[in-house]
Amino acid sequence: MAGNYELTQEKMPVLFVGHGSPMNAIEENEFSRAWAQLGQSLPRPRAILCISAHWETAGVQTTAMEAPRTIYDFYGFPPEMYAVRYPAPGSPGLASLVQRTVQCAAVQPDLTWGLDHGAWSVLRRMFPAADIPVVQLSLDYTKSPQEHYALGKELSSFRQRGVLIVGSGNMVHNLRMIQWGEAAFDWALEFDELLRQRILAGDHSAIIQYSQFGRLATLSIPTSEHFLPLLYALAAQEESEPVSFFAEKVTLGSISMRGVRIG
Ligand code: ZN
Repeated sequence: MAGNYELTQEKMPVLFVGHGSPMNAIEENEFSRAWAQLGQSLPRPRAILCISAHWETAGVQTTAMEAPRTIYDFYGFPPEMYAVRYPAPGSPGLASLVQRTVQCAAVQPDLTWGLDHGAWSVLRRMFPAADIPVVQLSLDYTKSPQEHYALGKELSSFRQRGVLIVGSGNMVHNLRMIQWGEAAFDWALEFDELLRQRILAGDHSAIIQYSQFGRLATLSIPTSEHFLPLLYALAAQEESEPVSFFAEKVTLGSISMRGVRIG
C-alpha cells in the first residue's frame, strides 16, 4: 500500500514526548491523561513517524513492514504489560518516501523491528484506536547531535504531507540516579529549566551543544539516546513557530517528563 502522502496546505504539529517509565503505558496518571488529551487536540495525521530512544542502530533504518509487532523491550514488569498490543499498521509507502527524502544518510528499510515501548506506550494513549499507520526511524549511534539535527531537518517536509513527527525519549534521563518518590534532584530541575528556556527562545544550537553545560549535562544526559529524539522535533520547527508544553515535571528524581508541542 503506497498511502497518500501528497503535499497539503496544512502543516502537522511536531511532538517530543517524555515517555518515562514503561508503566505509563497502563497506569492512569497525569502523564497518560495529558497524552490522551493531546491526541484529541491534534488534527488526524495520515501517519506517524516516530523516533524512539529505544531503537539504536549503526546507520539509519526505518521500519518498512505492513504490520509492525508490539515489542516488549523491558524486563521484570507485571504481566499486563506483556499483554498490551498496539496493532497499528505500518506504511511501506511512507518508509520508502523517507528513504528517498533523506539525503544525508542512506536509510535502510527494516523488516524485523516493529514498535518498541518508546513508541507504543505513548501512542496507545494518544491514538487508542491504533488505526493510524506508524513508521519508526532508528537512532544511528555513530552520528553526532549536530548530524541528528541535520537529519531531522530533512524530515521536516513530512509535516506538509500529513505526517505527525514524534520524538520519544526524556530530556533528563539518568537511570542510575533514579529514586522512588516525587522529589527531584536539583541538577535535574535546573537542567530541565535550562532546556525549557532554550526551547522557548528557539536557541537550538545551545541545545545541540549540550555538553557545554558541563556537570549539569553529564548528570542529565549520561547517555544520549533519550535526549536525541528531542533534536528531531526541534529540527522540524519553523522560524518563530509557537511552542507549548503538555507535560512538565521531573519524576523519580532524575527523569524529566517534559513534553513539547511545536505548531
Ligand atoms: Zn525510555
